[in-house]
Amino acid sequence: MRIITKPSISPLRTYVRCYSSYRIAAKNNFRAIAKFIDIQSLDYDRRANNKNLYTFSVHTHVHGHISKNEMVKLYNDKMVKHPTGRKIYDKLMGLAPLDRCPFCGIGRVKTLDHYLPETKFPTFSVLPYNLVASCRDCNIGKSTHFASTQNTQTIHPYYDDYTHEQWLYAKVLESIPVSIEFYVNPPSHWDQVDKDRVQEHFKSYELAERFSIEASNALADLREEFILYKSSPSIIQKELKKKAKVYESRYKNSFETAMYQALYKSQWYCNGGYA
Ligand SMILES: [Zn+2]
Repeated sequence: MRIITKPSISPLRTYVRCYSSYRIAAKNNFRAIAKFIDIQSLDYDRRANNKNLYTFSVHTHVHGHISKNEMVKLYNDKMVKHPTGRKIYDKLMGLAPLDRCPFCGIGRVKTLDHYLPETKFPTFSVLPYNLVASCRDCNIGKSTHFASTQNTQTIHPYYDDYTHEQWLYAKVLESIPVSIEFYVNPPSHWDQVDKDRVQEHFKSYELAERFSIEASNALADLREEFILYKSSPSIIQKELKKKAKVYESRYKNSFETAMYQALYKSQWYCNGGYA
């Protein structure tokens, strides 16, 4: 749930670079649809800006000419593995600030994710706008899932900025050991599409479970700290509030922001629930 600046790499140049090391016959085949790819790339950009990527239809051939398998092979052989395309691949991976996965905000970037899956939308198999740095969990979890309605589209880190207002929250479960439950509560003035989309994103990437595991680790550390320093409830509350503010100033919708807010607001936790 972090934004990434959209790549400035030319879609057409990327496509040409990828097919340019093929032998002459294959090269001519790919060249024949270069104009079409270019037009479709502009269309992708326009629809993504209007939150309408879901309106593209699933297809098996590009411009009735190049098959899905050939486009998947183009990506695997010429972008992932071939040095010329690999430069672009690495550049796209490097766009994620601090190497952090934009879909979850917790994993490290390890791969590129096709926002519209290449096996369903082969036209966009090497389109830079469709390739987003991702951690393995987000990439594998999403697999070939794609939305068929506007409200069920997950967040696209190049186009959808939901970072200005808080929509991720947490509550303390007063149990032994203490645990944290995360939930989505978008601002009431948002339109329904945006409300549904953040909810869908949270669900699709299984963020409730994944954040809860991250929180358990952080809670174990806090427990040691408070016991070691024999901290009083008021000191504990002050410390937690400070941490919440620091995280909030960086990322309003990180699991840390939601977690520390919930912790400092819990009298039960500050009064010894942490132990
Ligand atoms: Zn991730």
